[in-house]
Amino acid sequence: MKNLPSTDILVGIHGGAGKLSESRYKGELLEDCKKALTNSLKSAFELIQKGATAVEAVESAVVIMEDSGCFNAGRGSVYSHNETHEFDASIMDGSTLNCGAVASVPEIKNPIMLAKIVMEESRHVLISGREALQFAEQYHIERESKEYFHSDYQLDRLKKIQAEDKFGTVGAVARDKYGGLAAATSSGGIVDKKFGRVGDSAIPGAGTYANNKTCAVSCTGEGEYFIRNVCAYDVSALMEYCNWSINKSADFVIFDKLASIHGSGGLIALDSDGSFCAPFNTPGMFRANIDSNGVFALEVFK
Ligand code: ASP
Repeated sequence: MKNLPSTDILVGIHGGAGKLSESRYKGELLEDCKKALTNSLKSAFELIQKGATAVEAVESAVVIMEDSGCFNAGRGSVYSHNETHEFDASIMDGSTLNCGAVASVPEIKNPIMLAKIVMEESRHVLISGREALQFAEQYHIERESKEYFHSDYQLDRLKKIQAEDKFGTVGAVARDKYGGLAAATSSGGIVDKKFGRVGDSAIPGAGTYANNKTCAVSCTGEGEYFIRNVCAYDVSALMEYCNWSINKSADFVIFDKLASIHGSGGLIALDSDGSFCAPFNTPGMFRANIDSNGVFALEVFK
């Protein structure tokens, strides 16, 4: 199943696309991942039900996945080449086209919170590196030690530079009671990244995009290809300028444009009518959604 198509969806999330081998993701680990996805989705759903905005909902969904340690974001992030953690995250409000992002920031427990603060409290869109910590301090954003982010599994992966399940970024899209759409993405980047590498998750338009006129999108996969194709914005542009449906637009971006430059990954997209899709061209993508009745769907493999 390449898609999780549905209508009347309020919140959709992903926990990354990749090889996600069935031999690794089974038993307790698979259950933990599913539990984290379920908690994330439910928290966003409850917020929306209570009248929160789509921005608040996607932030909450992503924070829960960042804290879970199950995905390549926040606590579960991959190691860079220098055995450090550098986080990328971005968030976008489809009602105002306001967005905020952080790139290569260390130590921040919840990079998506910092991205939201950048959007709401600064006149900038994207801040990067260690200097971003000065900004975080002003807003009492929590920091964590190296030990908090340490995982034997991720360090082992760095050492082996496994080809398997390379991705695992998290993302969320939501629709609120006021017709607002929002998208958020958070990532540790790619394992063994070098030279201050920044991925699509930090770049509005590439890894994250939201516009109430069209859709909200969060991407996961080989970030370089998503940047080159401006994937998240491209889904919106196809809807806006070609009048294509969300499914057709998202499928075209993943199966035609991304594939044509040999990029791999996937995305989740939600439009203002509640149509949701989750195309990917990898063997698996953690993905889930919830509709306005609280009915919920979760898939991992194809
Ligand atoms: N897109 C992310 C990046 O390239 C990786 C991922 O989706 O896991 O940084």
